[in-house]
Amino acid sequence: MATLGWTWLGHPLVDMGLGVITVFSELDRPEDLTPEHLERFKTYALDTFFSVAGRKNSIVLFTTNFPATHPSMNAEVKPGKVRALLDLHLEAGRSDAPPCTFCGAPSATYEGKPIGVRDRIPLFPGQEIVNFYPYGRLGIPVCGRCLLCVLALVVGAPLVSGRVMVLEAERPELLLELLRWWLPMLRERIHLSQASGKDPDTLGRPLSNVVHALVQIQDRIPQDHPGDLTVYHLSNSGQGADFQLYRVPSATVGLVAAAQRAALRPAWVLLSRRGRDPKSPDIHPRWTGRNSFYECIAQLPTSFSDLVRRHLIPAAAPGAREPGVRIWPLAEAVLREVMNMESQRVEAARRIADQLAMEIMDSGDRRLLDRLYRARTYSEVRRLLIMASFGSVRRGNAPVASFQDFVSVFEEADDVPRLDWRLSWDLILIRLLDQLAASDWFSRYGAPDLRDDEDSDEEEGA
Ligand SMILES: [Zn+2]
Repeated sequence: MATLGWTWLGHPLVDMGLGVITVFSELDRPEDLTPEHLERFKTYALDTFFSVAGRKNSIVLFTTNFPATHPSMNAEVKPGKVRALLDLHLEAGRSDAPPCTFCGAPSATYEGKPIGVRDRIPLFPGQEIVNFYPYGRLGIPVCGRCLLCVLALVVGAPLVSGRVMVLEAERPELLLELLRWWLPMLRERIHLSQASGKDPDTLGRPLSNVVHALVQIQDRIPQDHPGDLTVYHLSNSGQGADFQLYRVPSATVGLVAAAQRAALRPAWVLLSRRGRDPKSPDIHPRWTGRNSFYECIAQLPTSFSDLVRRHLIPAAAPGAREPGVRIWPLAEAVLREVMNMESQRVEAARRIADQLAMEIMDSGDRRLLDRLYRARTYSEVRRLLIMASFGSVRRGNAPVASFQDFVSVFEEADDVPRLDWRLSWDLILIRLLDQLAASDWFSRYGAPDLRDDEDSDEEEGA
């Protein structure tokens, strides 16, 4: 059977829908779609539009004015009208028709008017609104193929917290893998709602679930450059048409995949377990509840200080960790891969932490650890490091921080602390706690007091 030659267009709404049709058809590339694949998909999509789950999704995507949900339209004509929209790609566009906004092919019309209006393409202008295109035409020219792709969102774009989640991936393979992860669950929900006539449970937490899905598909994430992922969380319904955009950089996608490999996996598992919100249970094995660690990961690099203070440090604290779990390797991976921290600075922080751990172990000075742990200001940290260095030198060892390491980790210029000195200090603490835990220090000397998260927020850049 001849293929249709459909291909990615570079527009998130159309490409996400094309991905849905491709995954529904169990293909690896849209280029392999045939007319048979489309027929099967359209039959399924038509049923979906009239299922309880599909209607809810359709209202958010296409407003209540879409034929399937139109409040005043005769119920008997609705399926025929939806089918006609799904079938528009079969008509050859007139060569003098204005080009489709998405792909440039001749656009199609429906009941004599352009297709591109809000109740068929999300976030487009309404039926009666004159757009800003030439000649004051109503609606925006769109072809039947691009319309079918957008309509396919009703099947495969998850309705999350009242909005539809549309993904754009720099590497289309990644989009297909994510859709492969979600589609069986979405189809199950459509099926259940058809059987029971009831709403399925509401899905929530878009970002937690992007990370959750990336963890599940980790061995299929491209390794060299996984590509950026953009999440559009949008609603086209009623007065509140709007979207929110989240960008998950390629480095973060790569980090999630790398963190599932042997060296980092124990810390990742510990942190993801600690991040789970007990009040937000999993809806489905393929859809997790709120996970504050995942939310933080998805928002890197901006959430980095939150990641360190609310997740890495508390997990590194004695009592929280499991024997043998080291937090530092994950912190180091985030610093290098996502935060682009210079290797030299990371190495220097690690050296200072290791020397400090040695000094605390040699001296058995439990008070020094408590004071390091509770230090809040730059001058205090500096004073404690100098003090520890004196102690170390008295015992015939090297100072805990060489001048060069200290400057590289903490200072912008002579005696001027870096704005993010606090972050460096927190990283040193993570490594220090890792080292002490590894040598079983806490079972002999006891744990330092846990830092109060709320307190430390006011210290930013102090
Ligand atoms: Zn088109």
